[in-house]
Amino acid sequence: MYTAEYHAKSLQNIRDGGVATGVRIIVPRNACPVCQYYEGGYKFAEEAERPIPELPLEGCSDVGGCRAFYTPILDLHGP
Ligand SMILES: [Zn+2]
Repeated sequence: MYTAEYHAKSLQNIRDGGVATGVRIIVPRNACPVCQYYEGGYKFAEEAERPIPELPLEGCSDVGGCRAFYTPILDLHGP
């Protein structure tokens, strides 16, 4: 499992890259309900209304720790 520091850095790298319009939180198919709930895309432009959750997810009950991670959203022509 990755540390909060690792995830914070990963998110920062995506922001600093300048090409992503947001981040997507990816969780394993068999992840706990907390992870499943937070899975999905988060736009930087909508952060005020829909803040990007910090990873590892608080309240995660996965054995061995939360396995959620960030990936960049690159849909430059998206809505
Ligand atoms: Zn979980």
